[in-house]
Amino acid sequence: MTQAPARPQSGSTFESLNPATGEVVGTHPVQTAEEVQAAVARAREEAAWWGGLSFGERKTHLNAWKTSMTQRLPELAELMRLEMGKPVGDAMLEAGLAMEHVSWAAGHAGRVLGRRRVSPGLMMVNQSASVAFKPLGVVGVIGPWNYPVFTPLGSVAYALAAGNAVVFKPSEHTPGVGAWMVQAFQDAVGRPVLQLVTGLGATGAALCRAGVDKVAFTGSTATGKKVMAACAETLTPVVIEAGGKDSVIVDADADVEAAADAALWGACSNAGQTCIGVERVYVHEKVYDEFLSTITAKAAVLRADRDGKIGPITMPSQVGVIRSHVQDALDHGGRAVVGGIDAVGERFVQPTILVDVPEDSLAVQEETFGPTMTIAKVRTMDEAIEKTNATRYGLGNTVFSKVNGMAIAERVRSGMSAVNGVISFAGIPSLPFGGVGDSGFGRIHGPEGLKEFTYAKAIARQRFKPMINLTSFDRTAKADKQLAQVIGLLHGRAKKR
Ligand code: NAD
Repeated sequence: MTQAPARPQSGSTFESLNPATGEVVGTHPVQTAEEVQAAVARAREEAAWWGGLSFGERKTHLNAWKTSMTQRLPELAELMRLEMGKPVGDAMLEAGLAMEHVSWAAGHAGRVLGRRRVSPGLMMVNQSASVAFKPLGVVGVIGPWNYPVFTPLGSVAYALAAGNAVVFKPSEHTPGVGAWMVQAFQDAVGRPVLQLVTGLGATGAALCRAGVDKVAFTGSTATGKKVMAACAETLTPVVIEAGGKDSVIVDADADVEAAADAALWGACSNAGQTCIGVERVYVHEKVYDEFLSTITAKAAVLRADRDGKIGPITMPSQVGVIRSHVQDALDHGGRAVVGGIDAVGERFVQPTILVDVPEDSLAVQEETFGPTMTIAKVRTMDEAIEKTNATRYGLGNTVFSKVNGMAIAERVRSGMSAVNGVISFAGIPSLPFGGVGDSGFGRIHGPEGLKEFTYAKAIARQRFKPMINLTSFDRTAKADKQLAQVIGLLHGRAKKR
């Protein structure tokens, strides 16, 4: 991903624009480092109250927020369409899935994070051991524009459910959507536990340096590195949810029709601007021709336009990146069987399918973030897995296979895989979400996503005096001997299998 373009600015404000028309959707303040610090200070006061509530009380508040957002979902979806360009139906789907996550995080935080007993082990049998997961305090969330509701809420809702206050900086492309969600929280809960800061990259950088207890960043790998460097100055921990170059692997026994449908939707929905979108397809040679003819026929009738199923490219600068990847593929022997270089317009990019593209070209290695995909024929699933794993990213992946889906998915180096479906893992709140390599680290969603915004607090409580007091200067030579015997009994004997 390239740097976001400079937006028209006047004084200390910036405008969010409709990517389909260039019209101004809203004007928002560019908040300074001092203003960001003030927001964090307010959030810290709120964290004391919010963190002191029971899981049940927080659940009630979070569900009130979710209900109020759900009741006004069409309004939110229209704002998403205006600022980001996606069709309203897609916006409703995105926001609806996000509500699932708010609900799950609120409902499961107590069970996942509450104090629970663990075994003390034989040597410490006189102890009662337990662990609980405590809120960190204030979490800074920096969001992208491509899923302006689903993606930030994947951090915001889980951090809140874990008992933290949150300062949220939405993308400069979708500040109105961010402001809407924060206002909805204020209306539903009546307290500013969730704070908003708006601005460009500098405001995000200021949030990294404002004394928050953790930063959850979602965006490009390049910006993720800057966020991590800024957070390193104060040893502030980070979660990095960055880009991807996900593949679909189609085995010889796959349902080819379903695989083609899923690959096309995965590549072109949201105008291809999906971190876990399909960018590459590897198809077994036995079904390659059938797959290619099926997906080409489906793609040929798909259009990106103002009223179509594919919206505009949100960031004007991204159009140049998409064009360069398509051109590079064509220059190195690739062929466009659908779309091509002329499909890359000024605001809209038509579906483009590239074949015979060398594996070391930009379209195979770098995140294109447009409604394009490369399709390659492979002789074996080993080859498909090897090629899938040969990029620096490792976010998601899809496998279509009747018999070997799980076995293939297990060998793909990615945080998530979907078998015989596409991006299904993102809609399952109990599954952790995140990547490896240049796709980042740390997890949102699921129990892991709740724990990400906490620290583990271990307590060992003595239940009765031990036979041998190990932690005393009064320990005798006899006790040392007994201890050696116990250790020998416990760990010194080879176990028979
Ligand atoms: P981006 O990196 O340009 O911006 C992301 C956010 O970072 C914005 O809010 C921006 O203002 C802020 N920012 C910019 N410079 C900063 C700095 N120096 N310090 C702190 N914050 C700064 O990314 P984008 O274009 O908004 O989003 C698209 C990218 O996000 C794609 O690469 C996509 O794959 C990725 N993404 C990843 C996930 C995931 O969960 N892994 C989800 C959605 C999007």
